[in-house]
Amino acid sequence: MHELSLAGNILRIVESAAQQDAFVRVRTLHLSVPVLAGVEVGALRFALESLAPRTLLDGAHLTIDEPASQAHCLECARDITVEDHGAPCPSCGSECWQLSGDRGVRVVELLVE
Ligand SMILES: [Zn+2]
Repeated sequence: MHELSLAGNILRIVESAAQQDAFVRVRTLHLSVPVLAGVEVGALRFALESLAPRTLLDGAHLTIDEPASQAHCLECARDITVEDHGAPCPSCGSECWQLSGDRGVRVVELLVE
């Protein structure tokens, strides 16, 4: 399952941050999952919660934002935000745009103790 390997990657990011900053427990993990990232947030949350016991994420509060995805319109060359595949450009109405910027899941903030 895609979300499970993603959760494993996120845990590894947290663990390497813990080695650098010497913390032992995460209080809040704040993630950003753009709507067109192809990730099911419920499944990701579930996967993280199943991985959490006996890791740094044990008992951590999970906050997941689902911002609109960034895209670049090929018709009017503007940077736009889109919430759906095939949605028209809010500026010119074209459906010819490409995803740009942060496409995937990102760790926004890590509150530790
Ligand atoms: Zn456009």
